[in-house]
Amino acid sequence: MDLSSLIRDIPDWPKEGIVFKDITPLLASPEGFHAAIEKLASEYADAGITKVMGAEARGFIFGGALAYRLGAGFVPARKPGKLPWQTTAVTYELEYGTDSLEVHSDSFGEGDVVLIVDDVLATGGTAAAKAKLVTETGARVAGFAFLIELDFLEGRAKLPADVPIISLIHIV
Ligand code: AMP
Repeated sequence: MDLSSLIRDIPDWPKEGIVFKDITPLLASPEGFHAAIEKLASEYADAGITKVMGAEARGFIFGGALAYRLGAGFVPARKPGKLPWQTTAVTYELEYGTDSLEVHSDSFGEGDVVLIVDDVLATGGTAAAKAKLVTETGARVAGFAFLIELDFLEGRAKLPADVPIISLIHIV
């Protein structure tokens, strides 16, 4: 199945020079969404994943489905101030300024084997920050799963070299 035909390019959104990858046509396609989750799950079926981590909002959609399919738990990473209990936070660089993500401090334990999921791997800053949150709480990152990777931004260079990175669609 050609998943890339279900991604809509929105030029100059949210600002000039950015081509936004709109995944809503894929989400709305029963066959497309199913195929994407099945393919990502098959890549990590034998990895012993215990927890899938995704950040709001699009990481929740893929992460939740993938966790269910892998028989793993799901851990939400959220913007500061959204989680109600004790949190662990990480701050990371954006093109202009910084941003932060938080998880509940008891989300991961030492035995956890974690898969980090998002729709798009762009510069890699967000995925690297999520990996830091996982390792800081004592768990191990066993893989990254993305629907789309913007290869020309070389985001995978920011991620640990010894951890598998699977992207279903590559934009060169
Ligand atoms: P990154 O630059 O890899 O830290 O990406 C930051 C976040 O923005 C990720 O969660 C991506 O899903 C999202 N993102 C970055 N670039 C795009 C794009 N061109 N289209 C859609 N989402 C994007």
